[in-house]
Amino acid sequence: MPAAVQRFSAEIPWVLVQPTPTSFRVTCEVCGSTGEFNDPKTVVAVARAHRAHQAPQGSFRLGDAVAAVAKPIARAVGMESCTPCEARRRMLNRIGSR
Ligand SMILES: [Zn+2]
Repeated sequence: MPAAVQRFSAEIPWVLVQPTPTSFRVTCEVCGSTGEFNDPKTVVAVARAHRAHQAPQGSFRLGDAVAAVAKPIARAVGMESCTPCEARRRMLNRIGSR
């Protein structure tokens, strides 16, 4: 049974933290970035890097779907760089709303 996913904090609820046997898996629901970190201090630093996001909007759009499935890409880009994910999401949301 996988460990429970927890929201990082009430202040940054879109950052999800799932403990694994060896590390913490961190996912940002807003930009779709994800990563695994051994050090809780790194988890905190990553969560704070994603604090600048607005809370997720209600509507579900194409870009959000891509953000949800494109986690390996987000990992390659790196947790710290939200901007490419956000830019991609906005671009895809424009395409999806045509
Ligand atoms: Zn993010």
